[in-house]
Amino acid sequence: MSYRFFEDVNTNFDRAAPYVDAEPGLLEQIKRCNSVYHVTFPIKKDDGTIETVHGWRAEHSHHKLPAKGGIRYSTLANEDEVVALAALMTYKCAVVDVPFGGGKGGVKIDANNYTESELERITRRYTFELIKKGFIGPGEDVPAPDYGTGAREMGWILDTYRAINPSIDAEGCVTGKPVELGGIRGRTEATGRGVFFGIREACSHAQDMKDLGLTTGLEGKRVIVQGLGNVGYYSAKYFQEAGCLIVGIAEASGGLYNEKGMDLENVMTHWKETGAIKGYPGAESFKDSRKVLEMDCDILVPAALENQINEENADRIKAKIIAEAANGPTTPNAHNIIKQRGALIVPDNYLNAGGVTVSYFEWLKNLSHVRFGRMDRRNEENMMRKVLTAIEDASGNGISKKVSEELVQGSDEKDIVDSGLEDTMIVAYNELREIRRANNLDLRTAAYVSAIRKVAVAYDRQGIFP
Ligand code: GLU
Repeated sequence: MSYRFFEDVNTNFDRAAPYVDAEPGLLEQIKRCNSVYHVTFPIKKDDGTIETVHGWRAEHSHHKLPAKGGIRYSTLANEDEVVALAALMTYKCAVVDVPFGGGKGGVKIDANNYTESELERITRRYTFELIKKGFIGPGEDVPAPDYGTGAREMGWILDTYRAINPSIDAEGCVTGKPVELGGIRGRTEATGRGVFFGIREACSHAQDMKDLGLTTGLEGKRVIVQGLGNVGYYSAKYFQEAGCLIVGIAEASGGLYNEKGMDLENVMTHWKETGAIKGYPGAESFKDSRKVLEMDCDILVPAALENQINEENADRIKAKIIAEAANGPTTPNAHNIIKQRGALIVPDNYLNAGGVTVSYFEWLKNLSHVRFGRMDRRNEENMMRKVLTAIEDASGNGISKKVSEELVQGSDEKDIVDSGLEDTMIVAYNELREIRRANNLDLRTAAYVSAIRKVAVAYDRQGIFP
C-alpha cells in the first residue's frame, strides 16, 4: 500500500486533540482540508512532443487568509501529499503566529528532465490554471518555493499573475521571489536559519540536555544532515559556523560519514566538480545513503522528504535529537519508537517554520510597498550618534572611531528579517516547551496542541458562517 501522508498528519492531530478544549465538530472541521484542486494541462516540449502535466493546489484552512504554502515539483506529488503538506502549513503558521491559513501546491514532474524554457511554460500554465479558479492572489492564496522550486519559478508566477491581475498589490501573490522583483533579503536562507535558531534554543536548556545525556549549547555537537538542497545546506552551514561537527551527509545519490567532521564547503565543491558527493576524499562514502542516518551522532537533521524515518529504520537511528527540517520526515510509529528511546524530536511544524515566517515578512513588505529599514535606518544612526556624543561630553573621554562606527550602524532589511526570525523561533520554542512540560507531552504533540488551540480560538471569535 502506498504511503498515506495525510493519515499520519491526522494521527498526530488525534494525539493532541484531547488536550484542546473545543467542540468535537469544530475539531473535525479543523482537521479536514477545505478545498483541493486537481488540474491537468498539456505542455509542448522543445522537441515538439506534447506531455500531460498533473498539478494540485490544496487550501487546508481558511480560518485566516491568505492560505500560504510552497509549490513542489516532484514525481511523487499527488493529492494526498499536497493535502497533508497543506495541513502541516496550517499548524506550522499557527505555532509561530504567522496569520495565514495552510496551503500547498504540487506539480508531478522531475524538474531535472526539463529545459529552462519548458519549466517556464509549465510554471506559467500551472499559475494560469490557479488564477482561473481563484487559487492564487495576495489575499486568497500565496505560494512560495518548496522542493524542486526556487526564486526563478516564483518570478515567473508573479509575472503571469500580474499580467492578468495588474493591481498595485499584485507583488504579494507569491513569496520567495528574487529581491529585484519584490523578494526580501534572507528568504533563501530562512528555513535553514530557522532550523538553526530552533535547535540552538533547544540545546540552551541545561536540564533538557542533561536528560538526553548531552552538554548545553551547540559547540562540538555531531550533526548528520539528510538532503543538501536549500534547507539542508543552510542548516548545515549555520551548525558548522556555530562549532558543530558535520559528521554525516546523505544525498539521493549516496552518503558520507566521518566521525571527525568534514568541511561543508569542500563537500559542495567536490559535488559541483564530480556531480556526486560520493567519493569525497575527506570521508567514508556510502552507496546506500540511508545507512548514514543510522550512524553515530547527536543531532540528525532530515531535510529531504516525508517518510524517511519509519518503522523500517527507526530502531537503528542513534541520534539524541531529531531536527525535522523537512515536512513529515518521521512517521507516527517511528516517532513512538524514537520517543521510547528517550530522544528529543523537534517537530517539523515548528522547526521548519522559518521559511514561511520570512515569507510573511516579504508579503508585508509587498503590501506596504517599502523595504524594511528604509524609513528609519538613517534616523537610528543619527540618534545613536547623538547619544555617543552626549556620553563623550559627560565623561570627558572620547570613544574610539572603530567602536562608534560599530555602534551607530542602523538596521537594514537583512538585520531586521534575521532578528524577527530569531525572535519568532525562540518565543515559539518556549511556548511549546511550556505546553510539553505542563501536560507531560512530547514536543510534536505540544506543537499540535498549540496550533489547534489557536485555530479553534479563531473560529470561536469569528463564528461559523450561517
Ligand atoms: N515551502 C515552505 C514550507 O514548507 C515555505 C512556505 C512559504 O513560505 O509559504 O514551509
